[in-house]
Amino acid sequence: MACTADGVAEAVRGAAAIVADHRVELIDLDRAIGDADHGENLNRGFTAVVAALDEAVPGTPGGVLKTVATTLISKVGGAAGPLYGTAFLRASTTLGDRAELDAEAVVLALRAGLEGVRARGKAETGDATMVDAFTPAVAAAEEKAAAGGDVAAVLLAAADAADVGAESTVDMVARKGRASYLGERSVGHLDPGARSTALLLRAFAEAAR
Ligand code: ADP
Ligand code: MG
Ligand code: MG
Repeated sequence: MACTADGVAEAVRGAAAIVADHRVELIDLDRAIGDADHGENLNRGFTAVVAALDEAVPGTPGGVLKTVATTLISKVGGAAGPLYGTAFLRASTTLGDRAELDAEAVVLALRAGLEGVRARGKAETGDATMVDAFTPAVAAAEEKAAAGGDVAAVLLAAADAADVGAESTVDMVARKGRASYLGERSVGHLDPGARSTALLLRAFAEAAR
């Protein structure tokens, strides 16, 4: 798949599908340590994103990601909406009006997205949030791109690292968001936002195959 606007729009549709498939799983993860809405929030947001893309696909990859960002910000409440919205917005801005993405551009977009989440949520690695999936994903993507990997290889490396990073939240004490209210009792639970970050990256990797 070429990383043009249409290709990126297809990848975003794939992300919406994976969110829909894992809606209940994400709800259950959030029920254990939060308020049981993460899967519903994200599914509502990505359903609206698909509706927006059905109306019109913007002309550039950055434009597509901007549609994702503005839709998530307006449709998804809670912590994750603004955080993912910021991630997609920063990625969009970084890409500017490039017509097609290569591995280097994908890495820049991922890095910008992560920095957006960190700036907005102030979470560090080890706080048991989406940052614990996203941070190793970006590192793995950068490493793969530096070694000459193409877009598909870079996104696969990111998705694999995000899976491992998400799993690592099980052993952590949550220090940000609702789960932090549980203190030590948050240990033993997979963070829902870390899981959804891993799922989104998996969807992008699948689309790029
Ligand atoms: P809410 O907690 O408002 O109901 P969601 O359930 O949609 O929002 O999202 C919860 C997820 O958001 C958490 O699992 C965590 O990954 C992420 N999160 C919460 N606060 C922060 C933060 N300050 N920085 C990064 N991620 C955060
Ligand atoms: Mg929640
Ligand atoms: Mg909520």
